[in-house]
Amino acid sequence: MTVLVRSGVGPLCALARAAIPSIWRGNYFSSGNEAAENNPVTPMLRHLIYKIKSTGPITVAEYMKEVLTNPAKGYYVYRDMLGEQGDFITSPEISQIFGELLGIWFISEWMATGKSTAFQLVELGPGRGTLVGDILRVFTQLGSVLKNCDISVHLVEVSQKLSEIQALTLTEEKVPLERNAGSPVYMKGVTKSGIPISWYRHLHDVPKGYSFYLAHEFFDVLPVHKFQKTLQGWREVFIDIDPQVSDKLRFVLAPSATPAEAFIQHDETRDHVEVCPDAGVIIEELSQRIALTGGAALVADYGHDGTKTDTFRGFCGHKLHDVLIAPGTADLTADVDFSYLRRMAQGKVASLGPIKQHTFLKNMGIDVRLKVLLDKSNEPSVRQQLLQGYDMLMNPKKMGERFNFFALLPHERLQGGRHQRNARQSKPFASLVAGFSELAWQ
Ligand code: SAH
Repeated sequence: MTVLVRSGVGPLCALARAAIPSIWRGNYFSSGNEAAENNPVTPMLRHLIYKIKSTGPITVAEYMKEVLTNPAKGYYVYRDMLGEQGDFITSPEISQIFGELLGIWFISEWMATGKSTAFQLVELGPGRGTLVGDILRVFTQLGSVLKNCDISVHLVEVSQKLSEIQALTLTEEKVPLERNAGSPVYMKGVTKSGIPISWYRHLHDVPKGYSFYLAHEFFDVLPVHKFQKTLQGWREVFIDIDPQVSDKLRFVLAPSATPAEAFIQHDETRDHVEVCPDAGVIIEELSQRIALTGGAALVADYGHDGTKTDTFRGFCGHKLHDVLIAPGTADLTADVDFSYLRRMAQGKVASLGPIKQHTFLKNMGIDVRLKVLLDKSNEPSVRQQLLQGYDMLMNPKKMGERFNFFALLPHERLQGGRHQRNARQSKPFASLVAGFSELAWQ
């Protein structure tokens, strides 16, 4: 893959990124049993205790939803939890190369499907806007390729705080932003490079049209229901008030079957499972949109293929955190079940993956891009940061194997639709999708 070298994507010098803490969210497993030093009564804990006293124990999914995205007190709503000073670090915050290669992926798909005259770039859960910023820089640098294409950016974000950071990063407020808190499009503006950009709280409010969707470390924050196999059958894990200790929560098992059991496969062999109905709803919506109007979705996250059991865990200050302690002050997350995402897409669109992050990035040409940036940088600290970032993203013991890439594509894309260009007929078309095989410019 030589296009990055020839076109010199992005500034030739490396961009400053946060120092890299040694912990990322894909790393640990916990059922919330770590000894807690103390149990401060946070406003969220008070709210949950009141709720449980009024209406009874709540599901883990309801707990996650309240703790993370409650509009008044939710963890994601009013804080910047990313980076060195926050609670966890993500790949785009570690290295600019990550977003650059994803930008190349979208351009490669756009070219392979007939170079439409317009597309929407839609990101779910954009964090600080760093990833979409790196992607847009690639689009600018490859402006000669994209010159006749109308691009717009659409961000799906529930966090007021993070949406403000995204707006500042991406628009530098060169043109004043339009705000309307009551509207499904709650903010609108123009990016630094002149691209229209809009913010929404829900995917279903994003206009339908030819789109490329991106979800990086998004599906892992969606609420999961947890189930334990018992002699009486599946029983859902609930959260209740601990009768022994004041202001403390504990896990309990439901005494009888609950509706979310419908999400468990009939032939399930594990004795503990986590199911995420919200992930299914979003994959169905993405699949319907892609089947109707074309485009693609790229999902990158830590997860498994229907094999793991108890992965619900919390993070605070780059440390593992008991999920039931001081709710609202720590991130909550669970591994993504890619086998479920694949099932929800089946019949509507084709899916590829999950494949390991190190394989995907290797196929996208990470080694070439790293070499270009190293060759252009004389600053030892920058070179060291580039190498450390590469190690974090690629090392199988770090993010390289824990993170996976998964794509949704229209069936025609893999069957060689009318737009397929220069396809070598002897190879299956799936092998022509960049990242899932070596990138080949067409
Ligand atoms: N993709 C970013 C951030 C990951 S953190 C990165 O890789 O750096 C999760 C992101 O999803 C945050 O931006 C958070 O505010 C957002 N988020 C969490 N729950 C959401 C929901 N239900 N709908 C939309 N965005 C959500």
